[in-house]
Amino acid sequence: MNTKIILAVCLIFSMLTGCTGVEMTKAAGQEAENKTAGNSVSGNVVVSFINVGQAESILIQSYDGKNMLIDAGETIDNAVIDYLNGAGVKKLDVVIATHPHSDHISDMANVIKNYEIGTFYMPDVTHTSKTFEKMVSALEDKNVNVEEAKNGIDVPFSENVKCRMVAPCSKFYDDLNNYSAVLRMEYGDTSFLFTGDAEEQSEREILASGEDISADVLNVGHHGSSSSTSERFLEKVAPSIAVISCGINNDYGHPHKETIQKLNERGITTYITRDEDKAVILKSDGEKIYKENELIVQKGNSGEESDIESKISDKKEDRAVSAADGEFIGNVNTKKLHSSDCTKLPNENNRVYFKTVQDGINEGYVPHSCIKNN
Ligand SMILES: [Zn+2]
Ligand SMILES: [Zn+2]
Repeated sequence: MNTKIILAVCLIFSMLTGCTGVEMTKAAGQEAENKTAGNSVSGNVVVSFINVGQAESILIQSYDGKNMLIDAGETIDNAVIDYLNGAGVKKLDVVIATHPHSDHISDMANVIKNYEIGTFYMPDVTHTSKTFEKMVSALEDKNVNVEEAKNGIDVPFSENVKCRMVAPCSKFYDDLNNYSAVLRMEYGDTSFLFTGDAEEQSEREILASGEDISADVLNVGHHGSSSSTSERFLEKVAPSIAVISCGINNDYGHPHKETIQKLNERGITTYITRDEDKAVILKSDGEKIYKENELIVQKGNSGEESDIESKISDKKEDRAVSAADGEFIGNVNTKKLHSSDCTKLPNENNRVYFKTVQDGINEGYVPHSCIKNN
């Protein structure tokens, strides 16, 4: 039945335009107008794990103006659309609806209506929910090119960014979560694995498929639930960074403490969307990964100083206050102000010290949640 829907969508599209889906992908001319605001993407691939509460939505922006959206969260305060607009997105070259649960697709119909869509990927499964029906109607209304998300396909995105889908591997699952599209992205020496809500069964199949799933950054499966991130899977991915999408005080107790423990035992640095105002933003230049200009992953050999590094050292020289004992610590790059016991303190050489919160604010620093919550 679901295959029929996809075929119908494709058929309608072909009838109206008389061309195949492949031709739908716009040529390079589109890129210039698709550039994001500011130049933060130039030379980089920027991955934003958007804070959409107990849900998931991830925006990937490539140096050449290409954009990919994985899931569209829950409809909370227009968070997804606002974020896309704030990032200057006009076209989404690739959209992936990992699986039909509402915490992953509830804003998808709006996204489809509001942006030009290149290719849309979803697994071969349907859902009777209104949210799912709205998404499918929006796809049909706009004659979007829909492809089946499945193991072993390459997803054309950006010339130097390799994207490969490694799940779902099977046709039928008891649990909708296991239909989740799982995507591995590689840019230069750096790599990311996006897992949706794939659980242990899917993880086992992925391992059996022999696909390369190693990644510097693991988007932890199913919001950090203990039903995902099995030992063997985690060992194979071997990430140094983990990112979990989940809301504050959610009904599921996500992330589960078993998952956090596994990550901690392996010394994996974990970021959670709920701790950020807007998103966990990671930026790869192909060799290094930064979080808000803080170096968090270093690959390859670090011969030359990159643009970002030189920007950071310029800023260091501008610093008005030198390191002295103080209660509050500012991050010179992000301008966030932390209490001295916060777990998100910047690297030693990116710090500036203040005696009071007000002193920091006077210097243009914004209190982090560690201060706001006290
Ligand atoms: Zn979910
Ligand atoms: Zn789910």
